[in-house]
Amino acid sequence: MSEFMEYYSGPISRLIEEFSKLPGIGRKTAQRLAFHVINMNLEDVDSLSKAIIEAKKQIKYCASCCNITDKEKCDICSNQGRSEEVICVVEDPRDVSAMERTKEFRGKYHVLHGVISPMDGVGPDMIKVKELLVRLNNPQVKEVILATNPTIEGEATAMYLARLIKPLGIKVTRIAHGLPVGGDLEYADEVTISKALEGRREL
Ligand SMILES: [Zn+2]
Repeated sequence: MSEFMEYYSGPISRLIEEFSKLPGIGRKTAQRLAFHVINMNLEDVDSLSKAIIEAKKQIKYCASCCNITDKEKCDICSNQGRSEEVICVVEDPRDVSAMERTKEFRGKYHVLHGVISPMDGVGPDMIKVKELLVRLNNPQVKEVILATNPTIEGEATAMYLARLIKPLGIKVTRIAHGLPVGGDLEYADEVTISKALEGRREL
């Protein structure tokens, strides 16, 4: 960091600093992006910064499933044509769009926004577990599909949730391991996801 501070004037250093905080952006890429921005015309920079701020301001969590939305309830939760009986629990909003691409699942989702990970200091109270349990008070819910990723944390989270949910008399299933171990749902193709869903087993 200090290396760059020495060579570049304050505003550019700051921009490089900000870019390098983003996931997957190393110092070199941050530097390239910063100089790209400097060379853009002012209207484009203005439109980019506005898009960032608007996205952050308008996007919130759905009051029911915690997926990201710009409404009180997301389009999936407010869709009357979708079954209330099955809730598919995923880690991330990106997993919802991966599942939706298959067009197989006609139930609702619940987005945890993470997984339980003692190593990273993430406990159950830091992801959307409470919100899920509230939804399970609805007697219409018959099955919860645990579709967290097949990583150590994803499995541990699924086991934790299964122990909480089963005593409520709701069927709990886990998606099949058609997914490669450690592989993310969001990167799996539609056929793989459909098979994983189809081959789910009861816990
Ligand atoms: Zn929703």
